[in-house]
Amino acid sequence: MLNFARLYDERRFLVLFNNNAGRPNPPGVSVPGGWEDGGLLSGHWAGHYMTTLAQSYADQGEDVFKNKLDWMVHELGECQDALAAGGATVHPGYLGAYPEDVVLRLGPPRFAVYGGNPETNTWAPWYTQHKIMRGFLDAYELTGSERALAIVLKMADWAHRALTLGDVNHPDYSGPITRDELNYMWDLYIAGEYGGANEIFAHLHERTGDPKYLEIAMLFDNRESLFDACVDDQDILVTTPETRPGRRRPVRLHANTHVPQFTGYMRIFERTGEDEYHRAAKNFLRMVVPHRMFAHGGTSGNFPGSNNNIEMFQNRANIANAIAAGGAETCTTYNLLKLARNLFFHEQDPALIDYYERGLVNQIAGSRADTTSTSNPQVTYFQPLTPGASRGYGNTGTCCGGTGMENHTKYQESIYFYSADRSTLWVNLYIPSTLHWEEKVFTITQETDFPRVQATKLTVDGRGKLDIKLRVPGWVENGFLVRINGTKQTVNAKPGSYLTLTRNWRPGDTIDVSMPFSIRIERASDRPDTQSIFYGPLLMPILGNPGGGTYRELSLYRYLKRDGDYSRAAITPAGGQTFTTHGFTLRPHYTGDSLPHSPYFRRVEPAIVFGSIEAGVPNYKRNDGLPNYDVPVEGIPSPGTDGLTFLDLVWDQAPFPNHGRFMTAVLQTADEFLAAGLFTAEEKDLVVSAAARAREELKP
Ligand SMILES: [Zn+2]
Repeated sequence: MLNFARLYDERRFLVLFNNNAGRPNPPGVSVPGGWEDGGLLSGHWAGHYMTTLAQSYADQGEDVFKNKLDWMVHELGECQDALAAGGATVHPGYLGAYPEDVVLRLGPPRFAVYGGNPETNTWAPWYTQHKIMRGFLDAYELTGSERALAIVLKMADWAHRALTLGDVNHPDYSGPITRDELNYMWDLYIAGEYGGANEIFAHLHERTGDPKYLEIAMLFDNRESLFDACVDDQDILVTTPETRPGRRRPVRLHANTHVPQFTGYMRIFERTGEDEYHRAAKNFLRMVVPHRMFAHGGTSGNFPGSNNNIEMFQNRANIANAIAAGGAETCTTYNLLKLARNLFFHEQDPALIDYYERGLVNQIAGSRADTTSTSNPQVTYFQPLTPGASRGYGNTGTCCGGTGMENHTKYQESIYFYSADRSTLWVNLYIPSTLHWEEKVFTITQETDFPRVQATKLTVDGRGKLDIKLRVPGWVENGFLVRINGTKQTVNAKPGSYLTLTRNWRPGDTIDVSMPFSIRIERASDRPDTQSIFYGPLLMPILGNPGGGTYRELSLYRYLKRDGDYSRAAITPAGGQTFTTHGFTLRPHYTGDSLPHSPYFRRVEPAIVFGSIEAGVPNYKRNDGLPNYDVPVEGIPSPGTDGLTFLDLVWDQAPFPNHGRFMTAVLQTADEFLAAGLFTAEEKDLVVSAAARAREELKP
């Protein structure tokens, strides 16, 4: 991606802006293409590219990134001035790759809708404004471009007029835009999509203190339906036609339209302290993670009986029955990570960073091809979980091509945080990096090849007291060992928490961390036999295409010993980070190729067995009332009668330190099944007797 940023011809981004501002273009320079082609989403990619250049410069310090960025900032500033001087705009300060009217027509009196007519339709005009403004702000924040700040402030002043005074020259103009009219604008599918425009204005308020910018940020509140519902923790991401709120919102909300709005709400909360913004964001994220989250961290897709748009949220608690329809737009995960990160600043819930890591090392790392291109960013759009699906790369001019350029130039953004009182350094992620904390005169160097290795090393260059918090990932099952200067530390390393190292540090102190991975199984919450395999943090899809969307079927319990370790016999190492099971190959999802693979499989465990000893009793399921959807899925009774099997419940208690503990688990579960009428007394005896006979078989 750095190579793309270095070598792509930045003049191509200016063509449409110049055309719109009446400025000439050099001969032979063409527009990027895709949606950056002169259509109604044009301009968004220029913004993403500016952010990419700014991030690349911050990361690498190479002049090439800064030179290109400075040139774009300068030229775009000239376009803004030319538009103002030419009197071609209703309000001063507008900058865009298409006429200002495309933005203004979204509001009253026209309330333009999404479509292809360049004279009457519109396409997420504030989304595009957000991307362009973000590009300038990143140029200012990451490379110190004062010119970029001046341009974005003019754009913001224009936005204030555009969103308060509105379309003043229209013959049917009836006065300033009302709150009700804003609600009507933001609830409209695609046309009303505004990205995270609100975060820009809250950011500008932080920089300038001008209350006008905070006012603009709040004009984007999606008050007609989603905002207030999220404050009240009412999950209306998908409704039925009968319960659909608002005048114009669809029954299913478009995922990537709404996720970034909540990052903006968090920025408003940070500026105002108004808790409802925080509450709305916190509740919203929890509606998605875990209730709509696939194994790789992505969300959204169709379900039987839903309309045919895989960018829309699936109904709550639907994982298994939303898989076969594709989905999981990469942009949405980009935005979910941003939101999780921002929420963590205010509430240090380790689950937020566990989610961040899941999304980063699986869907995001797996969103780029292991190839280089200087003409087309080799990143994904959707990342379907469908059995046998393959990933497609190459996204010139799309949303995911834009956020894709950003994703792979900012891996370092969430590795280290510090506490507001500067007493504590949070080490969230295990990524090779160097932290220069100038205020504390500390430099921390992290050396690792994680997640290709299961360890990391931090070297401290600094002196004095500092609490260093290390994240103990939720997936840790085999211990989390910490050594300082080679000496093993006694630490409280609870998975899904942070441990604290309090010390007077000296230059050269080292922290070595070892966190052995294990093979884990994760179940879809609505259908427990639909499962994915993980190796530590890594989703491990099964290579190959079973055909026709059918799942690979695996039986695994018969291979387990008392320690419950799948890697012993069921899913065994096959070199590097690959594994083998039942003759199939598993490899990390981050691998950037297009081979067909199955991130989920079906667990088939029809009989109760302990090693090779068969109890002669079916592996009955408990009735856990699954699935349990909030909105019906065609052909799937809900609440249903699915649930965990006898063997699931026993083995979920592994590892067992001795056979006695194993027998206790078997007996308790068998008693529960007897009490629930799932076992006869005879079946219970058969199961317990088989378990007792398996003592030698199950020895690790
Ligand atoms: Zn996208």
